[in-house]
Amino acid sequence: MNLPNPIQRLIDHFEQLPGIGPKTAQRLVFYMLRLPKESLQAFGSNLAELKNDVKLCSICRNVSEGEVCKICSSSIRNKDLIAVVSSPLDMLALERANFEGVYHVLHGVINPLAHIGPDDIYIDSLIKRLVDIDPQSFSPVEVLLATNTSMEGESTAMYISKLIRDKGFSEDVVKITRIARGLPVGGDIEYADDVTLSRALSARSSF
Ligand SMILES: [Zn+2]
Repeated sequence: MNLPNPIQRLIDHFEQLPGIGPKTAQRLVFYMLRLPKESLQAFGSNLAELKNDVKLCSICRNVSEGEVCKICSSSIRNKDLIAVVSSPLDMLALERANFEGVYHVLHGVINPLAHIGPDDIYIDSLIKRLVDIDPQSFSPVEVLLATNTSMEGESTAMYISKLIRDKGFSEDVVKITRIARGLPVGGDIEYADDVTLSRALSARSSF
């Protein structure tokens, strides 16, 4: 069936979004046709302004409304604990887990197959942050590498860890940690894959 062009155009837009197939796209557009004009206009202008109103925090590269994001400008966050994450969504996951430090958002991981090298993600700005650390400071800054445990996430963590040492930051100035890997809560040992289980064993802690 040939749909009117304005409807078809919108369906095509929705179909480009992740997780939305042709049927869902159609359902969404026909649902929107029933909404009041004002709410569609608000939706449209919010969409149009999305890229204009959101920038990246000059310190941590997290999405932000202002020059510096709310987390970096908060006085109650532990600025000596920096979690390095690959995306703002991972940052949100750590927020839900009540992480009390600050973040550095890479916006990707090193992935040679997809032609993403170290210069294509925000590793440089992480090093620049570390340069600003007061060498006389009482305790080291902790860089917690919280990238995924996928192959790309692992190699990105390894790259950053090596780079920090290569740049001359000693353990007294920058302590590097990696998120613990192991079984998910409620996970069944019997069904865990070998890699997960061997990591769970090597990351065992006292009880
Ligand atoms: Zn920030």
